[in-house]
Amino acid sequence: MGATIEDKLFLDRFNVADDSHLKIKDDAVCTDACEDKPCLYLCPANVYRLENDRISVNYEGCLECGSCRIGCPHLNIEWRFPTGGYGIRHKFG
Ligand code: SF4
Ligand code: SF4
Repeated sequence: MGATIEDKLFLDRFNVADDSHLKIKDDAVCTDACEDKPCLYLCPANVYRLENDRISVNYEGCLECGSCRIGCPHLNIEWRFPTGGYGIRHKFG
């Protein structure tokens, strides 16, 4: 039997690690030096949000596209692949 519609709706399954694989290196750089805050716009998963004048990192939703790593003009985002076995798995078929 083929995949059910429920299977197809859940093509991306998350297995969330306890520690973030994304980290703001220096909050002060975001607050004081980064006027446009492009991380708020370039992330397709809306991982970066402005909360109480601080950038919060909701790493659980990260799609691991890598855009924030190259898009932060101050190179202020520490980025590493999630611990083995964690992170997103894309399923096809
Ligand atoms: S783009 Fe980089 S420096 Fe600017 S707010 Fe986002 S993380 Fe901070
Ligand atoms: S790697 Fe991609 S999905 Fe993950 S936080 Fe950065 S821009 Fe967003």
